[in-house]
Amino acid sequence: MKKAPGEEPDEQLTVTAPKEWAAGVPAVTHALEYSLSETSVRRTGVTLLTMNQVGGIDCPGCAWADPSPGHRHLNEYCENGAKHINDEATSRRVTADFFRRHTVSELGRRSDLWLNQQGRLTEPMVKRPGSDHYEPISWHDALGLLAEELKALGTPDEAVFYTSGRVSNEAAFLLQLFARVLGTNNLPDCSNMCHESSGFALHETLGTGKGTVSLEDIHHADLILVVGQNPGTNHPRQLSALEEAKKNGARIIAVNALPEAGLLRFKNPQEPRGVVGRGVRIADQFLQIRSGGDLALFQGLNRMLLEAEDARPGTVLDQEFIRSDTSGFEEFSRHARTVAWEDVLSATALTREEIEKVRDEVLRSERVIVCWAMGVTQQRHGVPTIREIVNFLLLRGNLGRAGAGACPVRGHSNVQGDRTMGVWEQMPDSFLDALGDEFGFDPPRAHGLDSVNSIRAMGEGRVKVFVGVAGNFVRAAPDSAVTEDAMRRCALTAHISTKLNRSHTVCGRTALILPTLGRTERDIQATGEQFITVENSMSEVHSSHGRLEPASKVLLSEVAILCRLAARTLDGTSAVPWAEFEADYGTIRNRISRVVPGLHDFNRRVARPGGIRLPNPVNEGVYATATGKAMFTCNDWEMLHAPEGHLLLQSLRSHDQWNTVPYTDNDRYRGIHGSRRVVLVNPEDVTRLGLSPGQSVDLVSVWADSAGRRAENFTVVPYPTALGCAAAYYPETNVLLPLDSVAETSNQPTAKGMVVRLEPVVAGGK
Ligand code: SF4
Repeated sequence: MKKAPGEEPDEQLTVTAPKEWAAGVPAVTHALEYSLSETSVRRTGVTLLTMNQVGGIDCPGCAWADPSPGHRHLNEYCENGAKHINDEATSRRVTADFFRRHTVSELGRRSDLWLNQQGRLTEPMVKRPGSDHYEPISWHDALGLLAEELKALGTPDEAVFYTSGRVSNEAAFLLQLFARVLGTNNLPDCSNMCHESSGFALHETLGTGKGTVSLEDIHHADLILVVGQNPGTNHPRQLSALEEAKKNGARIIAVNALPEAGLLRFKNPQEPRGVVGRGVRIADQFLQIRSGGDLALFQGLNRMLLEAEDARPGTVLDQEFIRSDTSGFEEFSRHARTVAWEDVLSATALTREEIEKVRDEVLRSERVIVCWAMGVTQQRHGVPTIREIVNFLLLRGNLGRAGAGACPVRGHSNVQGDRTMGVWEQMPDSFLDALGDEFGFDPPRAHGLDSVNSIRAMGEGRVKVFVGVAGNFVRAAPDSAVTEDAMRRCALTAHISTKLNRSHTVCGRTALILPTLGRTERDIQATGEQFITVENSMSEVHSSHGRLEPASKVLLSEVAILCRLAARTLDGTSAVPWAEFEADYGTIRNRISRVVPGLHDFNRRVARPGGIRLPNPVNEGVYATATGKAMFTCNDWEMLHAPEGHLLLQSLRSHDQWNTVPYTDNDRYRGIHGSRRVVLVNPEDVTRLGLSPGQSVDLVSVWADSAGRRAENFTVVPYPTALGCAAAYYPETNVLLPLDSVAETSNQPTAKGMVVRLEPVVAGGK
């Protein structure tokens, strides 16, 4: 049951059997129930009927692509998208009076769920040094305060500018422009924590950090591998695409440590058989893999494919593609044959027969797609795993042709677009050159700080000002206690936000809340109504038009806040026309079209229904890699090992959650109700560890620094996870993830590979 705004959840856990199918009628009723508990029937109608439609509001949820115009349903959204959009469209308001009634310390003790339930932020607030209250401040004074703090820094590198994937292309472009004109590349973003490993691996091997497939490709694949991904909760409309692929004859193999409902069966509420029938079986084969075993799986598979070619030369590998489009095959081939089967089987916890079955599916399939998400990227070997997936695709020429390719599935609506706009601490010189030429300045070239290194720098006093545009950095980041300490050491923290979250309560000596328009709201500027643009996981850039009246008359758009802040900070020293940009977002897009490849004539082309698909050079046979070809690579690994008495823990989201924000304390698909402090453990492990179902335990993570990171009072729930692998919710378990526990090369936190022990809570003390 959803709690009223003043109430905290009362933590009464009940556990039922996990669901074996996703969506169906319950998805519709839950979506409507949540929406109507947040806002009126009229506002719900406006959001849901315009969501993901041409000329409507782009879903602020995940980055899954929309069907082409003319092929969209009247209700083109999923349960979670509906909840997310109406969570933003809520009628509840956080006013100055709210902050008078609650101290910052008290808010800091509230749950994430409670903070989110208080509603939309309505006016700028400041917490001054030594005070425990936020108090109202005018926009002029708030932006002046922040500008003066930025100007007073010893060097621009003492500031970081964080973005989450909610930020529009226009705002993201302005943010990175402001930071670089100021003189820093300190542009950490949420991508550092979700798909950084994909970007690194794909850049190195294919010359582009993005996926290569379209929705049409998914529909026409013969075989789709869904690896380390839970589409039923995190990208629900992907299930419609997989259903369409199955209708066209595709086979689907799911690879995951948990048998998620959405991987098993899908009842599409748009279809009669999804309402009254049994729905569609999604995975033809489910590989319950040990956490961190994906690299071993793909190496084993690749070895099998090479051996199949040995047995039947000229029939298995795409030799012509390998010759014309790739480099490094010989070395890769030698290396792949050295992979030991016993290592593959122990790292994956799969049988050889299971992997042979996958090989046979691959051999029967002309067109193969691999989809993956954070089950792969948030591993220590995330980058080499994705390189090995690329090897797998290259062997049979599954790139650059219809129905085949690589599909990293992004979790937030514009996380890919923000990167396209230059939000990255390591943008290449080609982008910086174009930016500098367009605006007449010399952008800094030294790499800036990513999310992990920003936390280090704040903790060590090297960064004094944190500016967050959207998101909830404190809860998204690893090592919660370390991150919170780092934020508190800042002289000033400022958040451009729509709703209250933990990051507003864990703040610098001075803290600003700068409330902004949501994507659902009309954005009126001096030249009239504006729209913004976003880019989905499949590189399609399209517009989003707010439809609702803003939550407060005082709100400014993200673009307006950034333009005014930049103008105040730079004091007219830059040639950037900030006021013109604020008045007319079309002028920003004109500039983007001259800086960002593929977005020429941006304003005219984005006005077309469906928008623009950015070209992917890989699909043209162009590879901007070190060899000018798609690169085979040799990847070594060490098995992720949990000592006796320990488990491998992955953090995950509940079904009733969006990123860091739980909407309820239930997880319907996994049968968890009334509490989020649960740890899902294989029943055999429960017995082996001497635990019992329902027992209270502390989770204690094991790391070289012996810091004894502890998450207290979790309830043991027997669950069919892979043997030796446990799962618990994010962000509650971020406290267990050491800042230094990162993926090789990409520096991405390894939230899917924590080594923990479960310590029973003893009544009256530990
Ligand atoms: S699948 Fe993703 S983009 Fe589509 S409605 Fe659901 S949350 Fe929104």
